[in-house]
Amino acid sequence: MIKSSTINILVVDDDEDDLYLINEAIEEVRGASYRVVSAMSPLAAMGELSKGTFDVILSDYRLGPITGIDFITSIRKAGIDTPVILLTGMPDAVVDAAALKAGASDFVPKISINCDVIDRTIRYALAHAERQRLLQAVLRSTNSGVAVLDKDGSLSLWNPRFEEFAIDAHGEAADKLDRLVKFALSSNQMDVNIGSRVVESHTDEIKGGGHILVLHDVTQRVQDLRQREVAEQKIRKVAMEDVLTGLPNRMAFNDALDQSIKAAQEGQYNLAVVGFDFNRFKEVNDLFGHAAGDALLKITAARLRDVLQPGEHCARLGGDEFVLVQSNASIETAADLARRVKDSLMMPLDFEGKMIEPGISLGIAFYPEHGMERQQLLANADLAMYRAKAEGGGGVCVFGASIDQFVRDRRKIAHDLKGAIHNNELELYFQPQFVGDTGLLSGVEALLRWKCPVRGFVSPAEFIPIAEEIGLIQELDDWVLRNACQYAVDNPNIKRMAVNMSAKAIGRSSIAATVRQVLTDVGLSPSRLELEVTETAFILDLNRALHSLRQIKSLGISIAMDDFGTGYSSLSLLNSFPFDRVKIDKSFIQDAGNNSRAGAIFKSVVGLGKALQVPLVVEGVETAAQLQFSIEAGCEEIQGYYLSRPIPAAILRDKAAGQKRDLWVADFAAVQPPQIAKKSA
Ligand code: C2E
Ligand code: CA
Ligand code: CA
Repeated sequence: MIKSSTINILVVDDDEDDLYLINEAIEEVRGASYRVVSAMSPLAAMGELSKGTFDVILSDYRLGPITGIDFITSIRKAGIDTPVILLTGMPDAVVDAAALKAGASDFVPKISINCDVIDRTIRYALAHAERQRLLQAVLRSTNSGVAVLDKDGSLSLWNPRFEEFAIDAHGEAADKLDRLVKFALSSNQMDVNIGSRVVESHTDEIKGGGHILVLHDVTQRVQDLRQREVAEQKIRKVAMEDVLTGLPNRMAFNDALDQSIKAAQEGQYNLAVVGFDFNRFKEVNDLFGHAAGDALLKITAARLRDVLQPGEHCARLGGDEFVLVQSNASIETAADLARRVKDSLMMPLDFEGKMIEPGISLGIAFYPEHGMERQQLLANADLAMYRAKAEGGGGVCVFGASIDQFVRDRRKIAHDLKGAIHNNELELYFQPQFVGDTGLLSGVEALLRWKCPVRGFVSPAEFIPIAEEIGLIQELDDWVLRNACQYAVDNPNIKRMAVNMSAKAIGRSSIAATVRQVLTDVGLSPSRLELEVTETAFILDLNRALHSLRQIKSLGISIAMDDFGTGYSSLSLLNSFPFDRVKIDKSFIQDAGNNSRAGAIFKSVVGLGKALQVPLVVEGVETAAQLQFSIEAGCEEIQGYYLSRPIPAAILRDKAAGQKRDLWVADFAAVQPPQIAKKSA
């Protein structure tokens, strides 16, 4: 809108007559309030322009040496955007176009000038200028670079932002704008880098010719996006990765296994799912601290990465639970994988000077044989691992129908075991222990037997863990203790009665009182009783175990450490409690005959006991050679099938009854008790 207040007009013409004519025409306009200032040269015009502001300029096209176009160009350069109407002697289409292009608002032949034409032209020019100003304001206010190209492709309009982009891209080069235009045209609808920014370029055709170029600055958006992407990647990584080990976690593994199953289905090959965990991992944490447990898990991840081959991947499912998948698997390749994993993971780990000797148990299930779906495969690999553990740890077990059976059997055993005491199905066997160099009987170890009416003899190695699991162990331990002590009272020739105490029993605060009560009840001298405890008792609760054992020891009862060398901490335990005897686990002597390294280990274990001045018992001596080896190594006492199997109470009683002299190894040579069923029927 043009304001109705006075409109200031500058008229530039070097011809006095023309000036007069134009002024007259303007004066004749009625109802308008025009104020006119005249200038006879471009220079004079510039002078007027510098003195005051004008709403419109009327300028002759011919201004002596320069044209109106030159004049427009120079005042625009000076930052004056006042609309200019060019007046010309003769109409000329070429000049007309050039004038408009240079920024003239209108081009009027002098010949047609009268008050109406002048009035209309001025008003149009003002309206046009107003629109132009608005447009410029809009263009200035946008954050995007905008440029307008005319029909011929030359730049007719651009905003400061566009110029800024051009400077960013090409510095102050004279053709910076044209170069940016070219670049924008060639990269329509794309994100492009211009200098330090990223812009999104849009080119639109203008109806009737020409283009509008718009460059949106999307630097921030792109940066945000990148940041978001990085963040998302991090989140994804955290969500899919086990933080401690960097291995894929359960979630990632589930995806991977599902994909493997799909691929195996399509490729018609087998998958092996191998699950494993550490035997008594809790001990590592309890004995060496959680940092050690973490270190073991971390090194496990590194070791796994080392042994895995193409087509195999692994994950940590949680705790000490790991799983591996092998594509294109057979029994042989899966066994090979299990062996590789075992060999590398069982290597001792030096944690801050302390040696941790990890042991693992593995279970294998095959797709599709043992399950078509992830859950079932994992569950079955787990069952197989469970069985490998139950069979002594360190083993590998493949899932099979027998494992289903095995799990069902255990449940049934648990059920039947509950009735065993009341039904009188329990019995004690005794295994003699002999002094190494004399061959004299030094004592016996009471070993529990369950004669199940359905299964026959069930091995304690099988039912004791179940009893522990279902909370029946206390009752069994008490029963064994009472009966073994009673037996010792009845057979005074037995100098020492050794009784196994489960780890849980040692943890009971009442254990010392219970033992004393039994001794009082049956009337046995404490010096004839020995309790065998394993490392596990100390693992469950070190302080409580030490407290209980000290109490028991103070009664005059001796304490033996059983299964020495199978745990993680055997050695450190020897320092924390004054054991009366140490029983070297049978695995040591059994390996000692087979290879020289095991022999050396055996000797060093014996040497250690000697250094600590604890008498040693070797368990599991099965051959003459092993006996020889044990005696030569310097073990005080020997126990094993070679000398005597565990024998029923009645046989031992017959041997011991009425003997005037001590019992010798030779007295037991011919004794062969009933065979214990290895596994339940
Ligand atoms: P353990 O305390 O280490 O008992 C020694 C085991 O080794 C016994 O197996 C014994 O029969 C076996 N053995 C003895 N000499 C030899 C040999 O020369 N070669 C081989 N290969 N083995 C030999 P058993 O009686 O089957 O007992 C197994 C485990 O069950 C025992 O290991 C003990 O941990 C547990 N256990 C047995 N009786 C009791 C009990 O009354 N109470 C508790 N809490 N645990 C018991
Ligand atoms: Ca024992
Ligand atoms: Ca033992």
